[in-house]
Amino acid sequence: MPRPIFATIDIAAMRSNLGLVRRLAPASRIWAVVKANAYGHGLANGMRAFADADGLALVEPEAAQVLRELGWRKRVLLIEGFFDSADLELAGRLDIDVLVHCEEQLRMLELARLPQPLHVHLKVNTGMNRLGFRPEAVSTVHQRLRALPWVRDITLVTHFANADDEDNPRLPMQLQVERLRGAAAGLGVEMSLANSAASLHHPELGDAWMRPGIMLYGATPDGISAERHGLRPGMTLSSRIIGVQQVEAGEAVGYGSRFVADKPTRIGVVACGYADGYPRHAPDGTPVLVDGKRCAIAGRVSMDMITVDLSSSPGAGIGSAVTLWGEGLPIDEVAQAAGTIGYELMCALAPRVAVTVR
Ligand code: PLP
Repeated sequence: MPRPIFATIDIAAMRSNLGLVRRLAPASRIWAVVKANAYGHGLANGMRAFADADGLALVEPEAAQVLRELGWRKRVLLIEGFFDSADLELAGRLDIDVLVHCEEQLRMLELARLPQPLHVHLKVNTGMNRLGFRPEAVSTVHQRLRALPWVRDITLVTHFANADDEDNPRLPMQLQVERLRGAAAGLGVEMSLANSAASLHHPELGDAWMRPGIMLYGATPDGISAERHGLRPGMTLSSRIIGVQQVEAGEAVGYGSRFVADKPTRIGVVACGYADGYPRHAPDGTPVLVDGKRCAIAGRVSMDMITVDLSSSPGAGIGSAVTLWGEGLPIDEVAQAAGTIGYELMCALAPRVAVTVR
């Protein structure tokens, strides 16, 4: 029997999350972001779940190729640009949208001789200072792109630094919007701005294209409440109890003897550890469902096991079902307890975890 740790991917839930974006901004077109193996959910699963999206966006050229091999016929976008001329050749051959964010890429695109005109995305650095041309350079870059016969059309793109904290005084989200709109003025281009946080709170920003990622998988960028937004978890990580210890008051559990029982306590040992993608830094008290009842981590997370205080699930024993996150236990809540974000937990799901799709 395989070790009892498995992730269940819920295609219908992911599809329903995409439907929610559609309802929020019916006039927008949607890039479903499927980078990092569809945020850990599996590229093919993302492709199935987001069949109604207008395109799929990702950062790995090899994964873009896989999407085409899997039969995805709509648009595919490389949102980090391309890394060398071979990627550009691939994009030309497979009709993949490319993004240009720096002079080096622009020159590569100018020198390319592509077999068919591509949709090109011009990334504008509106203040995040990661990728992109500064707004004052946009009109010249746009002109240079327009002059190339293998550029079909141009979309102006930016990415928000603080969509989940839009009034951040260092870079309010609205300032980034204004800078992009200013750069686009008079060029007759489409724009692509909104990630999940902006899609949820400012669907009016999706005046052309939206690029939601995390919300499609049923979590939220602000970690507050996916459920409150009507989002459903795309991934449930489950396991079983494989051992039980009765410890006395004053006895300690696990590496470093971090958890010390203050009363006689039943401890359940769960077949899930950091080598499965569970966050090693999860403190005592991090929630876990055992037989559907909320219990708490008690003791340091080890490579293959966690230990859980079974006091609130007294009937639990070896074989009891455990949910680490997903249905019944929001991934954002586990992430917050462990000092991280749902994105990281999803993406860190380890290859040894069996995945089932429903
Ligand atoms: N657009 C770009 C350029 C991104 O890098 C990302 C993710 O980091 C997204 C959109 C989707 O963001 P989110 O997952 O917060 O919706």
